[in-house]
Amino acid sequence: MPIHAHAALAAKAKLQPFEYEPRPLAPGQVEIVISHCGICHSDVHLVDGDWGGVFPVVPGHEIIGTVVAGDGIPLGTRVGVGWQCGSCGSCEWCAEGEERLCMASQATCMGNYGGFADRIRVDHRFAVPIPAGLDSASAAPLLCGGITVYTPLRRYAKAGSRVAVVGIGGLGHLGLRFAAAMGCEVTAISTRRDKEGEAKAFGAHHFVVGDPAANSFDLILNTAHFSPSMEVYLQALRPKGVFCQLGASAEPLAVPPFGLIVGSKTLSGSAIGSPAGIAEMLRFAANHGISAQVEILPMARCNEALDRTRRNLARYRMVLAA
Ligand SMILES: [Zn+2]
Ligand SMILES: [Zn+2]
Repeated sequence: MPIHAHAALAAKAKLQPFEYEPRPLAPGQVEIVISHCGICHSDVHLVDGDWGGVFPVVPGHEIIGTVVAGDGIPLGTRVGVGWQCGSCGSCEWCAEGEERLCMASQATCMGNYGGFADRIRVDHRFAVPIPAGLDSASAAPLLCGGITVYTPLRRYAKAGSRVAVVGIGGLGHLGLRFAAAMGCEVTAISTRRDKEGEAKAFGAHHFVVGDPAANSFDLILNTAHFSPSMEVYLQALRPKGVFCQLGASAEPLAVPPFGLIVGSKTLSGSAIGSPAGIAEMLRFAANHGISAQVEILPMARCNEALDRTRRNLARYRMVLAA
């Protein structure tokens, strides 16, 4: 039976109905009937041809659905699939549960057909069971947006850390929620004064418009799609502080060497997380009542939903429902 999807046939083209015949289920693969798929800025970059890529593109890598065939996961299990759908399984990174760093990593919707579809087939290692307490629509964005902020928070922050989240959008609002639940002192940094009320409702203790003050933060997560003044942001770090880049901005970061040298500061980057990290993040989200704030549209209106993400209008993440 063919899979019914929505694809862009060329860069910046509107998505259109697209059918494909999936490869036979290999050992260890599962077939998932998709109920929800969140939309990430990476989907916009793929459809717009910003990252090169091979068309047709079926976007979608914040997938939630039910296992209906295959082995490795009991049939009927509700699972989520994020950006990564495969890895070699034998390198040093795979061996230590850091599959996201594998050189042979496979992407769910780049080189494969993604989640804007009724079904998908993936390696069962990358289909993570969803805890019962989470609602599918508002949990879908956790599979990429959520894990992307959770991974560096777990790595660099602890209770009491002073954490700044730059950019209060799809990633940023989840960063505020996770950082607050971890017991951090959280500052939201935005270009828009009108986001203060919502940022504080997401968990921010402080709200800054414009440049942050010097010596303020142990960790800055930059989710914004513009490159901030690194001179100002490195000064805003306390000694041994970390600036972690998460947004896939096209502009280079202009880093003044003394900004790193004085105070022994670290410039870092992070993307997604490995299956064990996703499972941990989902448990943490279920325990703390964390999910994304979403706008839900039917899959048939995927062009409208993608365009809202492209224009930064989503409040705060678009999710397609079957
Ligand atoms: Zn993503
Ligand atoms: Zn590997």
